[in-house]
Amino acid sequence: PEEPEMEALQHADVAALLPRPAAESDKYRRGVVGVVAGSARYPGAAVLAVAGALSGGAGAVRYAGPAADAVVARFPETLVTAGPPGKAGRVQAWVVGPGLGDDAAAHQALEDVLASDVPVLVDADGLRLLDPEAVRTRAAETLLTPHAGEAAALLGLAREEVEAARLSSVRALARRFGVTALLKGSTTLVAATSGPVRVNPTGTPWLATAGSGDVLSGLTGSLLAAGLPALDAASAGAYLHGLAARRLGPAPLTSIGVAEELREVWLDVSSG
Ligand code: AMP
Ligand code: MG
Repeated sequence: PEEPEMEALQHADVAALLPRPAAESDKYRRGVVGVVAGSARYPGAAVLAVAGALSGGAGAVRYAGPAADAVVARFPETLVTAGPPGKAGRVQAWVVGPGLGDDAAAHQALEDVLASDVPVLVDADGLRLLDPEAVRTRAAETLLTPHAGEAAALLGLAREEVEAARLSSVRALARRFGVTALLKGSTTLVAATSGPVRVNPTGTPWLATAGSGDVLSGLTGSLLAAGLPALDAASAGAYLHGLAARRLGPAPLTSIGVAEELREVWLDVSSG
């Protein structure tokens, strides 16, 4: 039989993917997620990405970037690395890009994490600064999480062209860069370099609000650090993020509120 082009994510699939600490777990075995995000201009992006990361099942979140004071003020459990992420120890997956800006430190940070041998999720400004060659030569998995505008820039297309052909666009991203690609939007699609594209059935248009993508990045990076393969981390991240928004609506939501709701979603999903 021919392989299906798309498959919808199911509640039970996501429930089975959620990382659970084993009896003998410690925080390092549960996974440490490194977050490189935020800038003087966008300090809140760092806080939102860390908020997502704290809700994704990793054992610890390590922040490396210029917004450490804001991050720790809001989330005292965050570990902080002064200086570039290349100097940070024990990180099992990186999230790089939300609100990062494009100065020399941002370029260096992106280069550092791409040079690591652990999975990397690249979002937002990280996508703008991305060197395709540095991605193609990576040994560990790379996950790109663009919205349509960011995907268009990566593919050399207009945003309208991506919007009109979302399925082939997400596939093209995965194949061209040799990555897993998550294309955000009213329906989020996740593609690996081969196999059916996963379609996320959760979410609401109330998620079209500042900072919601930053929460998704942190959450999904945390699932990567906990050991999920990129395709599963991306699918589960989008699914949980969308459910959190649904629980909060229909009404205007805040991105930090979505992050705070993830615990309830986790309980719902794991109890069936
Ligand atoms: P970003 O553009 O990076 O802030 O990410 C926005 C987030 O909101 C992504 O998770 C999108 O999938 C989601 N989103 C944006 N617009 C919609 C929409 N109209 N319906 C459902 N989800 C949306
Ligand atoms: Mg974004």
